[in-house]
Amino acid sequence: MRASIVWFRQDLRLQDNPALAAAIKRGKPVLPVFIWAPAEEGGWSPGAASQWWLHHALQDLQALLRREGSRLLIEDAGTGSSLDTLLFLARQSGADRVYWNRRYEPAAIARDEQVSKQLSREGIRTESSNSAMLLEPPDIKNKSGRPFRVFTPLWNHYRTRTIPAPVCVDLEALQTPKTWPQRNPLDAHTFLPSTRWDGGLAARFGNPTRTRLLTRFDEFIPTRAAAYLTNRDDPAKDGTTLLSPALHWGQIGPREAWKRLDQSNPAVESGLMRQLIWREFSHHLLVHFPQTTHRPLRNEFLQFPWREDPEHLRLWQQGETGYPIVDAGMRQLWQTGWMHNRVRMIVGSLLVKHLLGHWLEGARWFWDTLVDADLANNTFGWQWIAGCGADAAPYFRIFNPILQGERFDPDGTYVKTFLPELDKVPTKFIHRPWALGDLDLASCGVKLGQNYPRPVIEHTFGRARALEAFQANKARAGSDSSS
Ligand SMILES: Cc1cc2nc3c(=O)[nH]c(=O)nc-3n(C[C@H](O)[C@H](O)[C@H](O)COP(=O)(O)OP(=O)(O)OC[C@H]3O[C@@H](n4cnc5c(N)ncnc54)[C@H](O)[C@@H]3O)c2cc1C
Repeated sequence: MRASIVWFRQDLRLQDNPALAAAIKRGKPVLPVFIWAPAEEGGWSPGAASQWWLHHALQDLQALLRREGSRLLIEDAGTGSSLDTLLFLARQSGADRVYWNRRYEPAAIARDEQVSKQLSREGIRTESSNSAMLLEPPDIKNKSGRPFRVFTPLWNHYRTRTIPAPVCVDLEALQTPKTWPQRNPLDAHTFLPSTRWDGGLAARFGNPTRTRLLTRFDEFIPTRAAAYLTNRDDPAKDGTTLLSPALHWGQIGPREAWKRLDQSNPAVESGLMRQLIWREFSHHLLVHFPQTTHRPLRNEFLQFPWREDPEHLRLWQQGETGYPIVDAGMRQLWQTGWMHNRVRMIVGSLLVKHLLGHWLEGARWFWDTLVDADLANNTFGWQWIAGCGADAAPYFRIFNPILQGERFDPDGTYVKTFLPELDKVPTKFIHRPWALGDLDLASCGVKLGQNYPRPVIEHTFGRARALEAFQANKARAGSDSSS
């Protein structure tokens, strides 16, 4: 009896899943499998917060498949590989085809090519599809046939293209095998941390099943999508979709999200639709410039004198920089596994500009703490802030953490949510408590250096030092290229 394996990876849903649709259409029993193979991720295996989300997404997929009379094999590649696991399952089940949806991280691309070659040597056909992008990187080129390195032309290009509709999966036709082979079954609870630090994530996201995520998005669209542009920069507001972890793990596909948006509404077009294209942009960059996971896209930054200062890094990671908007962001990240986009830019700027910390240090910390950690978006975000990536922030853009706080969190609601020790500080001083003076601060219950830190670096000094370093780098790169 022949069978088909569907290898689930970052496409943890049944609908709009072209690999599953193709396997079902073939008309043979289908074995759905997820393989945990962190060693195959090129040094970027899912971090702790991302694994928390993965746990829930897998449990949900398992429940959805059981409802269809099927199940999900959750396997551990262990010291072996995904290939070994697939070969074992194929031999046990008689499967002669393996279906999957494509991934775009360099290590995953290389691994998938190998798996495909080896399986075909064993007489097993493979078929891959696109479930994660609106349009795939190889299909997108600028007028000179090259990859886009600037966002606006890419966005204009997307506006001329037709975005395919989500794929309808005929679950009624899903056939199941008579027996279920298993190699190294992995009880999904192992993705949860052994020391339970995840209470804040559970409080923020509950149990993020596909149904709940779709319900939230469907409620968001009529009430908040048109106001997205007004609200999205206010970290105290629930003004963004929170789609990012669902898109990363594929509980919701981008085409499903796109289809739900009212394309005739200019506010939606220049708001959420454009935002989804930033996600496409970062994936295009990752495919065309795979070295950027560990190297700057702009070569002139290869020699940049980043400062290594473990104590500064620790203060930044723990939200103890003395800049309330930065500390609130870092504590939001630690407590909930998520951080507002505006605040991601502010905290990133403090690390790579004021403190001259390496963008990869920031990227690694985000990687381990974000529930939406995504190699394309994270790499792009960090290189954008550091000024060393595509379409990056110019080197002289150095966010002032005081003014950014005053502008985007004017009454300090966001800061006070995550820094309760500053609760009594008057609004006028909430983003620069040190300016209040010791006596007045004491009457608010704050003693700088004791229950809230002094600024890790003085803003004007940090800004001037960063400008000097970035200017010197530019000059050096200019003279290197002309010599
Ligand atoms: C330093 C830094 C690191 C980041 N790391 C990640 C990451 O690891 N994973 C991740 O998904 N996003 C990352 N982002 C992008 C962005 O912050 C998040 O996608 C966004 O905050 C997620 O919240 P949301 O789903 O409510 O977004 P919304 O504002 O509702 O936007 C909808 C969707 O559009 C996409 N999107 C929005 N902004 C961006 C952007 N700037 N770049 C790429 N895609 C975008 C996301 O898929 C998002 O879910 C990073 C940004 C910065 C500045």
